[in-house]
Amino acid sequence: MTHPRQPGLSVVAEGVTVSVPDPKAGNGRKTLLDDVNFRIEPGEFVCVLGPSGAGKSTLVRALLGEREIAAGRLLVGGHDVFLEADGLRGAIGYVPQRDVNPPALPVERALHYASEVRLPAGASVAERRAAIDRVVAEVDLDRVRDQPIGSLSGGEMKRASLAAEMLAAPGLLLIDEATSSLDPATEARIMRLLANRARAGTTVIAVTHHLDNVDQAGKLLILGHGKVVWFGSRVEALGHFGVHRLADVYIAIEDKPPGFWSARWRERLAENRAMAEGRQAAESPPGASPARAAALAAVSIPGFGRQFATFLCRELETALRDRVGIAMSLLLPLALAAVVLAGFAATSFQNPLMLTRFLDPGEKELLADVWGEVRAAIATDSVSEQDASIPGQIRVFLESQPKLLAHLREPSTERLVRDGLTDTIRIAPDREIIDPAGTFKWLSLMSICMVILGFVTGFREIVKERPMLDLERRHGLRFVAYVIAKVAALAVVLAVQVAIFETAVELGFLVREAMGGEGPAEIYRRSGLVSGTFNWLAAVACAAIGLVVSACVRSTDKGVLAVPLLITPQILLGATILPIRGGVLAVLAKLFSPLYWAHRGCRCEGDGVPVFWQNLGTYDPAIWIPIAALATQITVATVVTILVLRWQERAVLGRNRPVR
Ligand code: ADP
Repeated sequence: MTHPRQPGLSVVAEGVTVSVPDPKAGNGRKTLLDDVNFRIEPGEFVCVLGPSGAGKSTLVRALLGEREIAAGRLLVGGHDVFLEADGLRGAIGYVPQRDVNPPALPVERALHYASEVRLPAGASVAERRAAIDRVVAEVDLDRVRDQPIGSLSGGEMKRASLAAEMLAAPGLLLIDEATSSLDPATEARIMRLLANRARAGTTVIAVTHHLDNVDQAGKLLILGHGKVVWFGSRVEALGHFGVHRLADVYIAIEDKPPGFWSARWRERLAENRAMAEGRQAAESPPGASPARAAALAAVSIPGFGRQFATFLCRELETALRDRVGIAMSLLLPLALAAVVLAGFAATSFQNPLMLTRFLDPGEKELLADVWGEVRAAIATDSVSEQDASIPGQIRVFLESQPKLLAHLREPSTERLVRDGLTDTIRIAPDREIIDPAGTFKWLSLMSICMVILGFVTGFREIVKERPMLDLERRHGLRFVAYVIAKVAALAVVLAVQVAIFETAVELGFLVREAMGGEGPAEIYRRSGLVSGTFNWLAAVACAAIGLVVSACVRSTDKGVLAVPLLITPQILLGATILPIRGGVLAVLAKLFSPLYWAHRGCRCEGDGVPVFWQNLGTYDPAIWIPIAALATQITVATVVTILVLRWQERAVLGRNRPVR
């Protein structure tokens, strides 16, 4: 199947009015575009100009079907851009202001992935290759096709963006201030390229602030205060506004009250129409047929599996080609491992600890008897070696042990005996165990490190490539495939990082043991592989929660602020510093804390640990429970991210356009 080149498409605005709710005006609305009319023929190159706030971007977004039109119609190739947005997919190429190609990928690879998203599902490998060769030649990037996008000049990057949008051979190319950051010579080259594309049949609409090269365009569409103030040639525009330079048109628009130049434009149109009607009446009979809608090539969107594979491969290839990123990703777990090893360098993991129990009835009876005699001994005033009573003898002995006597007279001793007799405290020595303190603290720190790593890895992921996501969404990107591929790619990257971290720490302890030191007590921990798996799952769950944040925020800076807000409750709910033995805290921890489950998965209670180390209360140690819980948390965070993206799109598009 060959992907058909779309025919050049007409663009017709008929009384287009776009408005948004205006918070300042209560229930009122703010009009962004007001009764905009123009007709662009197939294959025309039109530059859209106008002062800031004139409505240029609003017009572009309306043309992309992303602004609901309050009144009038906006047609591309005879199709309503808002109501038939899905049908127009592939027919409109859009180059935004910011370059969106992944900087780490070579031009060729970026275009390969772009072709996977933009070309129809049925396009063969040979057709994709041919499309890439065609656009690379057309934008003259052959020389640099193997170079990473990030190493290209500004003009070359822009041409790479243009090439990606030309892959599907769209009938309309929309360029939104894409040349604003370029020097005049580079911009001139791009404008020539666009003019050539228009000559080859594609309709081109370019919003620009650079006025030096707009003469490449056949017509200018000038907007002022949301209205058309000029649509026609550059030379005639100068005459219409009574200026010598195009830049002065901006001053003319701003010098006059809103509505002045649009009224002048309507008057001029009315005059032209009257003249044209006069000519037509003289030359041809009335009743010319209206323009028909252009037949659009149907574009089938690749299914979930194909998109998932494309996004996953692109994520991984981008990560692998980013040398600095790789170095950081490898160094970070090593640095964390060094912190853990240094933090526990002086810790003794094998300290003995005497466990105690309540006194049994016989012991209590004996203690009560002995304590009665001792109390009588320390209460007596007279000390006589001739006193043959038991308290007397004890007192004689205690006289030779003044410290012991003072100690026995302390009220706390009395209290201790009383508590021991009433089963308030355990005072009877029971058995000796290895103190779990060092091992449990170490396990907690290991999991905390991986949870932090997960959040830090996830929170930037969507916000950093939002422009690319928005662009590819217009070409049919499925949120489900995109987000699941993101989570899968993060899982792969985190698997490597967790493996490095766990291995480095385990090796560190092996070296320490070989040198006669101690390693964590085996009876309180699961094997390195099992702990590593739990820490990895917890890191992926936190990265997935980070993705939710990344989908919600509008800038990476805001995402950074959210990271401590995410980490703090994790540490509280993770049963590391605060015991989570039941109640509301346990419910919250089980629902929202990957750290809690990692902690539960990595730890063993050994042969019974003292009550003050039972941070998790009584629990089922079955290994599948934390695995299932972490898998559920990953799934829920993934689904929430998808829902957030869909909800945002619905909020932008309004209720009247369906979201795929
Ligand atoms: P331009 O691209 O010509 O600079 P825009 O199309 O971005 O202008 O904006 C036109 C006007 O509409 C500006 O005054 C802008 O502040 C306003 N505007 C744009 N989008 C919104 C919105 N979502 N809500 C309120 N006002 C908006």
